[in-house]
Amino acid sequence: SLSDRLSATFKGLRGKGRLSEADVDATVREIRRALLDADVALPVVRQFAAVVRERALSSEVSGALNPAQQVVKIVHEELVGVLGGETRRLRFAKTPPTVIMLAGLQGAGKTTLAGKLGRWLRDQGHTPLLVAADLQRPNAVTQLQVVGERAGVAVFAPEPGNGVGDPVDVARRGVASARERHHDVVVVDTAGRLGVDAEMMQQAADIRSATSPDEVLFVVDAMIGQDAVTTAQAFLEGVELTGVVLSKLDGDARGGAALSVASVTGRPVMFASTGEGLADFEVFHPDRMASRILDMGDVLTLIEQAEKAFDAETSQDLAQRFASGEDFTLDDFLVQMQGLRNMGSIKKMLGMLPGMGELREQLESFDEREIDRIEAIVRSMTPAERRAPKILNGSRRARIARGSGRTVTDVNQLLDRFADAQTMMRSMRKGGGMPGMGGLPG
Ligand code: GDP
Ligand code: MG
Repeated sequence: SLSDRLSATFKGLRGKGRLSEADVDATVREIRRALLDADVALPVVRQFAAVVRERALSSEVSGALNPAQQVVKIVHEELVGVLGGETRRLRFAKTPPTVIMLAGLQGAGKTTLAGKLGRWLRDQGHTPLLVAADLQRPNAVTQLQVVGERAGVAVFAPEPGNGVGDPVDVARRGVASARERHHDVVVVDTAGRLGVDAEMMQQAADIRSATSPDEVLFVVDAMIGQDAVTTAQAFLEGVELTGVVLSKLDGDARGGAALSVASVTGRPVMFASTGEGLADFEVFHPDRMASRILDMGDVLTLIEQAEKAFDAETSQDLAQRFASGEDFTLDDFLVQMQGLRNMGSIKKMLGMLPGMGELREQLESFDEREIDRIEAIVRSMTPAERRAPKILNGSRRARIARGSGRTVTDVNQLLDRFADAQTMMRSMRKGGGMPGMGGLPG
């Protein structure tokens, strides 16, 4: 996977400072390769790589992540951003009906999508109407009627036997009919051609003017790869899109077309079609797609967990205080222990983090309930006791044991452990290092 290859490009660089230019360039080469493998269009790959390069060069090396992970994180964030950031929801009209127009090449999956959208909307309590404004192909209207019937959704179609008919007029009458019959959403299915074509584009633009859609969704086959860019550009200029739907994501496609189209149009990907069946349809999640494009799901989970566990701010804060000569208190000890709670949940995965062998061994014997016990004991102390445990005589220890539901022996053990951690922190301060995981329980 990309992550494996990235890890291999870094030769163990860790710690403070910046990533070197050579490391970043090696990384960017890997990213370009991965994006091209995923069928992202070349101009999009170039632009994306440039953005990532700049960010990687200017970012500080984080304490929690190794350089490979850090670059993966930057790449992922940029990918999610281009794909639309948060999942974008459908915009509904203030006054119904909401009009959703579908545009795209022939065979892109518009008619199929109309049925899926209709079913999905119906399941959410809407009363959609599908409008058959594709009069290009002889059986296009029938196809939509079949799809509508299967989805249990009403279809507006031109009356048969009136010659070819005007798709713009059908679309307009479809919306009027929805208003009359209280359908709150209209999905307008339109005609496509096999390639971009001026007449088709004009027709789509006319349908748009006639129906004033709230959304114009560009439906694009995820398998078309490099061609996605030119097609998307043509539709953006010809009909003005508000969103993108990727179809045929069930195939081998790694989803590179998603990045190409989103990047070229600047429009968010909103839905994905993942098969021929009505239920093969989902709301699009930019972050999941980013992982799919770069094939890096596991590593991302790991990065998230590692960052949580190392909570950079807490350590930074502690580090500064120790550097300025303040002593390590029981409150600090507690914060450190609480930080380990997150560690508990990732100990299974620690095997994947490089350079963590020693910590992993310590964590093997780590019991999260131990932190609960420590927390209970420290919380039973007064602030003065936490700052200066020296004052904890026998009667205070007995009171704390009662208050926390533990034994005096437990309290004593905790104080011993704290004393060890304190000694360790003091020696670290002398050495100028960052506070580590001193005083691990167990
Ligand atoms: P339109 O010309 O844009 O209306 O495209 P259609 O909806 O007629 O779909 C063209 C072909 O692609 C049909 O055979 C569909 O069954 C198929 N199709 C549509 N969406 C998907 C999808 O998400 N996955 C797969 N595997 N096939 C799809
Ligand atoms: Mg169709």
